[in-house]
Amino acid sequence: NKGILCIIGRPNVGKSTLFNRIVGKKIAITEDQPGVTRDRIYSEGEWLGNHFTVIDTGGLEPEKEDTIMSNIQKQAQVAIETADVILFVVDGIEGLTSTDREIANILRKSGNEVILAVNKIDNPKNGSDVYEFYELGFGEPMIISSEQGLGIGDLLDEVVKYF
Ligand code: GDP
Ligand code: MG
Repeated sequence: NKGILCIIGRPNVGKSTLFNRIVGKKIAITEDQPGVTRDRIYSEGEWLGNHFTVIDTGGLEPEKEDTIMSNIQKQAQVAIETADVILFVVDGIEGLTSTDREIANILRKSGNEVILAVNKIDNPKNGSDVYEFYELGFGEPMIISSEQGLGIGDLLDEVVKYF
């Protein structure tokens, strides 16, 4: 059976950009359907001969009445039930937020395998800005720039260890 990687994180941290980077195609775009616009959230990834499924839980359709937190709880539920490893993405430019802490609490309680990735570190010199993320309790964060394609190989090296 193929391994499953689920990407989670609050809105705008770069989940879809990272998803496209991992699958090597721009597919997490919005597509027109009658009355619906939604991201493609499933695709296949490959790294060093390991084939796996990638799910961008951020592309799950929110209900109209959903708050950010209730939608994230749904995303977390999907990730917890489905993933062999969860990729928790945070924003290294904006820094740690209360929503990041709430997601971390849910994931910690689940006991799932979690890799923390600090995104938007476009300049490796800014790597020292990531220390505040240690408090989330997932060990050393992986430092990446999904836009620039930095750190993605090291990240996938970690990911495939769980498959
Ligand atoms: P999502 O809501 O988590 O899926 O985030 P998106 O992938 O849609 O990205 C949100 C915004 O962050 C977009 O404007 C992206 O261009 C930007 N972004 C994503 N990755 C990076 C990155 O590595 N560096 C920078 N500077 N911006 C990024
Ligand atoms: Mg997205």
